[in-house]
Amino acid sequence: MATDQTQAPVAAGAAGGLSLGSVELSPFQAVSLFFDQAADHVGVSDEVREVLRTPYRELKVQVPVRMDDGRRQLFTGYRVQHNGARGPYKGGVRYHPAADLDEVRALAALMTWKTALVDIPFGGAKGGVQCDPSAMSDAEKEKLTRRFTQMISYVLGENRDIPAPDVNTDAQTMAWMMDAYSSRYGYTPAIVTGKPVELGGSYGRDAATGRGVVYCLEDAARDRGVDLQGATVAIQGFGNVGSWVARLIGSLGCRVVAVSDVRGGCYRGDGLDVQAVYDTVREGGSVVDAAGVEQISNAELLELDVDVLVPAALDRVITDRNADRVQARLVMEAANHPVTPVADAVLHSRGVTVVPDILANAGGVTVSYFEWAQNIQQYRWDEDRVNGELRKTMSRAWANTHARAVVDAIPLRLAAFAIAVERVERAAHLRGYV
Ligand code: NAD
Repeated sequence: MATDQTQAPVAAGAAGGLSLGSVELSPFQAVSLFFDQAADHVGVSDEVREVLRTPYRELKVQVPVRMDDGRRQLFTGYRVQHNGARGPYKGGVRYHPAADLDEVRALAALMTWKTALVDIPFGGAKGGVQCDPSAMSDAEKEKLTRRFTQMISYVLGENRDIPAPDVNTDAQTMAWMMDAYSSRYGYTPAIVTGKPVELGGSYGRDAATGRGVVYCLEDAARDRGVDLQGATVAIQGFGNVGSWVARLIGSLGCRVVAVSDVRGGCYRGDGLDVQAVYDTVREGGSVVDAAGVEQISNAELLELDVDVLVPAALDRVITDRNADRVQARLVMEAANHPVTPVADAVLHSRGVTVVPDILANAGGVTVSYFEWAQNIQQYRWDEDRVNGELRKTMSRAWANTHARAVVDAIPLRLAAFAIAVERVERAAHLRGYV
């Protein structure tokens, strides 16, 4: 993965937006650039944009954990609350060695713009713990999760800040978070979303991000003139999001020819047996262990001659180094911030349609909102209702974004950010923040 980008010392807040130059930006600089471009487009004043760009609260905590071998190890955790003008802060928690403050800040800001774009009543937040969960036992992960939750609990609340799963965290992690919070503040299922169904989780939440990507792809392909019958698809990442996209995308008539995970990728020109790859991974293997496939690297996957490319792993994988070699006509940003600003400009100039993360992967937070609403009302929806409401939300967000892009003659990302920035600015203004 491209985590060795030059971290350009660009001052967020420079008049007229950030200078692009030829260097790539840090995650928060990049998200700030996308924000500034939208703020320019919709005409947000300098003093208001300072408020909207800057995170409201950043909490850094030390998380000591007694490891299985008796050693005490100290981890660093973060919770960044970016903007709460439109509702309680909302965003996932990531466990990853690269989860630092800049990355968590960027992901928190993306949540502000995402929740606004799909018009659900939340603000934006994100959490992260710098750790390598692949080298930790379940008992160590449980201790880490409980201690981290305890450390950040005073900024959480079902009407204040509601975490969810992200990279290397899942329904079990959310169960531990809920239990740690509830043991201190009383039974509070609405404190996290993405919980197991047995603990008040929503039907359909596990698949929601991937399902939302597929719904959005169907709308985008129709309006952008891409025929999906027999279209080839490559998916980077085969975790929660990537594996659900792979399992659901066949319903559109597409053929998944390549998938990958942290160990590498697998390819089969006439189409992978996605269920067989999924079974291999579920039994503890990697996609590279699947039978009857050709092994490829993650870098090769991104440059395959396919119709649709779905980055669904980590950030900054399409950069100034490989953007000119991406052959797909449509890029669905299932991951957060997979395309850097320089790469975004290259893809746009080459006529590649990029459906931005704050739209493409918004299905997860949308069903998290449905889960939260079910918890607050103590009333469970069936899965058909969840998926039907998700479909409506995703299609409405796509239609608004596409229409704005056409009317203003701008790329989809700028259109998506413009709609989101207008909504957050309006809410902040009505509440008297700006
Ligand atoms: P996950 O932990 O379930 O899966 C991550 C996948 O990426 C795994 O297959 C892993 O092997 C692979 N991966 C990790 N490092 C890699 C590397 N260096 N090269 C190639 N592959 C690598 O995570 P997830 O929940 O599926 O999240 C994936 C992306 O989607 C992230 O960007 C996340 O922020 C975004 N996202 C997730 C959700 C959600 O509901 N889970 C919602 C919106 C956006």
